[in-house]
Amino acid sequence: MEYIYETHCHTSEASACGELGGAELARFYKQKGYDGIIVTDHFFNGNCAVDKKLDWHTKCELYCGGYKAAKAEGDRIGLSVFFGIEYSYLGTDLLTYGVDEDWLKAHPEVMEIGVKEYIKLIHESGGMIVHAHPFREAWYIDTIRLYPYDVDAVEVFNAGNHDPEFNRRADWYADSYGLIKVAGSDRHEDRSEAEGAVVFEQKLETVQDYISLVRQDGVARLICRY
Ligand SMILES: [Zn+2]
Ligand SMILES: [Zn+2]
Repeated sequence: MEYIYETHCHTSEASACGELGGAELARFYKQKGYDGIIVTDHFFNGNCAVDKKLDWHTKCELYCGGYKAAKAEGDRIGLSVFFGIEYSYLGTDLLTYGVDEDWLKAHPEVMEIGVKEYIKLIHESGGMIVHAHPFREAWYIDTIRLYPYDVDAVEVFNAGNHDPEFNRRADWYADSYGLIKVAGSDRHEDRSEAEGAVVFEQKLETVQDYISLVRQDGVARLICRY
């Protein structure tokens, strides 16, 4: 038995570039035959849809709105929906798993601290960091920054990378440092056929199941399709 998970996708509630609301996103993956998704909207330091002038608590609530809409629909239709974050440091994107809305509300300093401190804080809080599309080249990425001794895994296939070379380099990077490999679609819409997904031989009940299976190299296979 195989279970398919999207590990990188965006909602229009929280990502300014997201085209699908959380509920639509959940229905999209259900009809594609997925078992679950992890919603990873652009955080306040990325292309976030939340008004930056609001107070921290309100911003955190609105930021989690896309996830909550996806979760409510997922519960209704039978799709697991988990929470994640796409944290950005000057264009270096770090997928973050294992923290939640209450944790965010208690940690406004994540907007002030350096990227290494952020990774350390997430680890101390029981979370996991996956370097998203580490070799993507785009206008918003000023430098390719690598943290091979800090991240838990590398996204070696990102379906949003328009040049396959960006993914080949990510795979080479993971091999070179012996880092665990994952894949994600970075989905913002429902038109693209390209997909990246992580397949397990068991069902994930919580995002901590995802973290522990990835950390123990328990990924059955990756789906990497342009
Ligand atoms: Zn985006
Ligand atoms: Zn993304």
